[in-house]
This record gives sequence, structure tokens and C-alpha cells, in this order.
Amino acid sequence: MALADLPGLAGAKRLVQRLSRSADVTAVLLYGTAGAGQLEVAHALAAAWMCAAPTEDGPCGTCSGCGAVSRDVHVDLLWVRPAGAGNQIRIHQITEVDDPPEVVTPIQRFIGTPPLMAPHKVVILADVHRLNDRAANALLKTLEEPHPYVRFILTTSEIGEVMPTIRSRCLGVACELPGDEEARAVYGDAAPLYQLAPHAAARLQRQDEAFAKLNRLVDGLASEPVGAALRMAEELRAISGELDGDSAEREGLVATLELFAMLVSRRYPERPDWSRRILKAHRQVLGNVSSRTALDALFCRMLVER
Ligand SMILES: [Zn+2]
Repeated sequence: MALADLPGLAGAKRLVQRLSRSADVTAVLLYGTAGAGQLEVAHALAAAWMCAAPTEDGPCGTCSGCGAVSRDVHVDLLWVRPAGAGNQIRIHQITEVDDPPEVVTPIQRFIGTPPLMAPHKVVILADVHRLNDRAANALLKTLEEPHPYVRFILTTSEIGEVMPTIRSRCLGVACELPGDEEARAVYGDAAPLYQLAPHAAARLQRQDEAFAKLNRLVDGLASEPVGAALRMAEELRAISGELDGDSAEREGLVATLELFAMLVSRRYPERPDWSRRILKAHRQVLGNVSSRTALDALFCRMLVER
């Protein structure tokens, strides 16, 4: 999905246009509510820096560089994401260490050689509030050194947890949710729920097979017996795993619940109480209640209250 098609994000869209024409900024920190569109903006900005023929409006979208960025296969693009048991970004992802726990290309090695195809090498660090202390200090050193051909894009949904010294090394750009009017125009009555993380949900909506399963689950709310509640809760969890393989489990589930809420409110407009129930489960999952507890209760209630 092109950045221009996403609602909201006015400041971020202007930034992508500006940086397509000039490369004066070397590090950008994209922040906002989870799912506000940080990753979509990161993609667009990476393309702007790697496009062979950027236009006034940003990356051209058609050159081989733009195509490779959109498929996350560009040889000059490195993604760094939290991983492992603590879901953290760790030191071996930033710099060379002895006996790394997994085989990855650390940032320091990646930026040690000039770009092969694009005008710049671009490093995207997702969820930088999940850097552990050692990794954060190593990243800070990296950001402090001049790298003429390297550009950094950092994203976070928890700006308050990002080290101030890292924040001060980056141009901070807010990823804004659409305003009420814009959200209503795009998402209709489901806007208040959908607005919570519209772009994550929009991304999920494009994955046909899992989306079809989610639709069948919505159908089942009318036809399944009460005894099917726990199986349906389990199915929703499984679908969220399929839908959003890249992001952390909870994030995928949050976005899936938003999409589920939108579909339920469209299919059963006479049941606003179901939307409220889903919103409650959504808050619980955001608040770290176990997804099993929240979803089992949700489906039991919805089937019993028909
Ligand atoms: Zn291009």
C-alpha cells in the first residue's frame, strides 16, 4: 500500500517528500501509537533514500530499488528487530561479538562497506524501546560516528522509553493517527475501534487466506453452538499468528482484534454490545492480560448472549 493511500500521517508524508529531494538528515526516529504506521513510513522513507529516480512526491515506486525495498529484499537495506526470549534488540545485532547467540549481520559489519546498488545503505531498527542497555550504548556510538552513505530509521511505539541520548541523535517524526473526520470517511462506524491501529489492520486485511478464515469466524458467531466458544478463541489466536508473522505476538493479536471488531460491527450492526466486548478484550490484551483469558471470556460471552 502506498503511503499516500494511508489516512493520517501528515507530518511523516511531508518528511518523506522532503528527504527524497535532500539527504541532509542521517537518522530519523518515527514514533506514535502502536500500529500508527511507523513501519509503512519506514518503508517509504527507505525507498526515498534508495530510489533510482525519486520524484517531487517521494520515491518513484516503480524502479527496481523501490520494488526491492517494498519486498524487504534490497541488498543495501538491513532490518533489525527485537527477538529472543526477552523480545529485545541485543548487542550482537549492533556490533561484532564473540559467540553470537544467532547468525545475524550486525549493523557495524553492514555499514562497513559502501552500498552496492542504491545511493545509500539504510538500516531500519524496529521497536527501539526494546534495545537492552548494552545494545543501546553500542547503537549510540554508531549514530555518533559519521557514515556518509548510511541512513538510519528507528521506530517506536514507546517514545518515553527510548534513551534521550539516542533521541537527540535523530530527527523525531510523529506518526499521527487520522483525525475523527478522516477516520470516519475511511472506516465508517467502526472508526473509533479501527482508529486505534488502522494501518496494522489495513496491512492484515491484504493477506487473503487468513482474512478469509477471520471472515468465517465472524460468520460462526451467528451459527456456532455455545460449546464452540473456546475453539473459536483458539482459532482467532491462530489467525493472528498467520496474519502478522513479523511483529511480536501481542501486537499481531491487537491488530487482529481490531480487524475482527471492524468485521463484526459491519456484519452485525444490531449488536453494538459485541463491539464493546471486543474493545474490552482489546484493552485487556494491550494491558498484558493473557490472550487466552481475554479471548476465552470474549467468545463465551458473545455466544451466550445471542
Ligand atoms: Zn524508485
